[in-house]
Amino acid sequence: MKQAGQDIVIVGGGVMGSALAYWLTHLQPGLAVTVVERDPMYREASSALSAASIRQQFTTAVNIRISQWSLEFLRRSAEALAVDDDRPDVGFHEGGYLYLAGAAAAPVLREANRIQLEHGADVALLDPAALVARFPWLEVGDIELGSLGLSGEGWFDGYRLLTSFARKARSQGVRYLRGEVVGMERVGNRVTAVLLADGARLPCDVAVNAAGPWARRVAGFAGIDLPVRARRRTVFVISCPTPLPRFPLLIDTSGLWIRPEGSCFIGGVVPADDADDLPLEPDIGPFETEFWPALAARVPAFEEARLERAWAGYYEMSTFDHNAIVGPHPEVSNLHFMNGFSGHGIQQAAAVGRALAERITLGRYVSVDLTPLMFERVLEGRPLLELNVIG
Ligand SMILES: Cc1cc2nc3c(=O)[nH]c(=O)nc-3n(C[C@H](O)[C@H](O)[C@H](O)COP(=O)(O)OP(=O)(O)OC[C@H]3O[C@@H](n4cnc5c(N)ncnc54)[C@H](O)[C@@H]3O)c2cc1C
Repeated sequence: MKQAGQDIVIVGGGVMGSALAYWLTHLQPGLAVTVVERDPMYREASSALSAASIRQQFTTAVNIRISQWSLEFLRRSAEALAVDDDRPDVGFHEGGYLYLAGAAAAPVLREANRIQLEHGADVALLDPAALVARFPWLEVGDIELGSLGLSGEGWFDGYRLLTSFARKARSQGVRYLRGEVVGMERVGNRVTAVLLADGARLPCDVAVNAAGPWARRVAGFAGIDLPVRARRRTVFVISCPTPLPRFPLLIDTSGLWIRPEGSCFIGGVVPADDADDLPLEPDIGPFETEFWPALAARVPAFEEARLERAWAGYYEMSTFDHNAIVGPHPEVSNLHFMNGFSGHGIQQAAAVGRALAERITLGRYVSVDLTPLMFERVLEGRPLLELNVIG
């Protein structure tokens, strides 16, 4: 249990580190919390390069519960993250996710739907006629089923969410320190200090790894092997001259995803070359060879689509089971992890930050039980299988 006067050092000030810093000082005012962030502009941070969408359509109870909790937070984020009279608008738009399945994948979608309904998600299965009635621009010749989020799914301004958590955390007394963490001091099974490139030594009672795609390196400073890798994902920004009303976040049978973004659309595919640590330059080759043909086949209006630009960011991929690793290390128990969100982290930040803050300050989870995401499962070889991972 954490007491006021003890030091918590969080490595990484992206959405995870900043959400945790906010919740720690919200739950226990006066806690001494330092966030070490090497780039206050967040140029390469996943939180700044994200598609920032939220869904209920997972197939594990813990992921559904996390999303539901985060959803409620997003809806009241302007109030919760207000500093004085300044209420941040994270632009949450509940446009829904639509998963499509042909005959082969339809049973998987039905099973996912059963699990989601059991856990209170507001989702519905639609047959081809119902799909066309709702989305007349959609080609459904090869489709057996669609799964649509009726509420509680959509997209928001991820960068605004990050900066709003950070600003609110600062207003609650959190110290943001610009610096690069290059080591940790470990005495027995405890991390006793975090070491910075400029020679500074930050003594700590609790350390947290919130280093996103770089989390493996940070875990290595404490002698821990973390199965999280930086995997590049390219986002295409596309314009389309034809209006496409009520366009959701569409997950096609081909694997591509696309959603509206302002007056354009953004989308992507899973890259064939998925090596670790590729440079953060967008790979636009697959737009012409994979993305565009599949998209135009599904939504013929996109035959007239134009690639406006593209960017790339890293998924912090948990290569163990594509699910996050959260909570204390079983042996180095004052080192906590919030890593490996595998493409669904920004939507989980509010709930994970809250729950981990409870774990640190109270010694137990209260809002959402994150024990299914614990580090132990990695050491014991017990993957948590999630069917709905996007890319
Ligand atoms: C293209 C793309 C699309 C995505 N789409 C979605 C989506 O639709 N929905 C969703 O929920 N999620 C999505 N994600 C995933 C989501 O963005 C991430 O899971 C989330 O932003 C991770 O936040 P983070 O704080 O852990 O990492 P980051 O935002 O990367 O923050 C980590 C921070 O740690 C700092 N850092 C690292 N090492 C050190 C060090 N040694 N010293 C000091 N500082 C350090 C970095 O500078 C960085 O600012 C997407 C990601 C990408 C790339």
